[in-house]
Amino acid sequence: MPKSYVHEARKPVPPARERIKPIIERLAVEHADAAIALEFRNELELLVSVMLSAQTTDVNVNRVTEKLFEKYKRPEDYLAVPQEELERDIFATGFYRQKARALRGTMAMLLAEFDGVVPRTIDELVRLPGVARKTANVVAAELGNAQGIVVDTHVRRLAQRLGLTKEEDPVKIERDLMELVPREDWARFPHLLIWHGRRVCDARQPRCEICVINDLCPSSRV
Ligand code: SF4
Repeated sequence: MPKSYVHEARKPVPPARERIKPIIERLAVEHADAAIALEFRNELELLVSVMLSAQTTDVNVNRVTEKLFEKYKRPEDYLAVPQEELERDIFATGFYRQKARALRGTMAMLLAEFDGVVPRTIDELVRLPGVARKTANVVAAELGNAQGIVVDTHVRRLAQRLGLTKEEDPVKIERDLMELVPREDWARFPHLLIWHGRRVCDARQPRCEICVINDLCPSSRV
């Protein structure tokens, strides 16, 4: 189980329902550039990038996909080479055997059941081999059809520190956030928390003194 930050949220603050709007508004101003860091030009590249991003950094994925997407342009291309060749081409993203298997399984299903087109609903996306709920949420949100809220390590930590959830399990955290966050913000909300987590609310040393939401945060150290 990853480290919990629930116990840090101890200061008295208004209920989460009253704080969520100003939290979103202020973070949106502070991180106006918050967006997905993966680089892609179409839906297939988006899906592949997100699948490759498990257990590695977006920078690392972008480095690999820059060449990968010159060679693999259609679902068929991932099936036209031996598995070992695809493994070599994605080696630097780590877990390359698992990821190559998932990519090939996904491409085969895209062709067999979706006319080679990336589906838009979470229910369809999670049927693709190697596509878990988090991956499906990221893809659906980027396709303009957010049906949930992405919970990664930053979102989990900030949601706990901000007292938006007391849960540890990502599925339960997502459920709490979906009840609090207005639907029109489901796509951008995780990006705001991710960028705030990277730039200000560091896991070990949160910079509460410069944080624009420190008066709304029950974990503030100032
Ligand atoms: S950096 Fe901001 S969000 Fe993070 S714990 Fe401090 S006040 Fe809260």
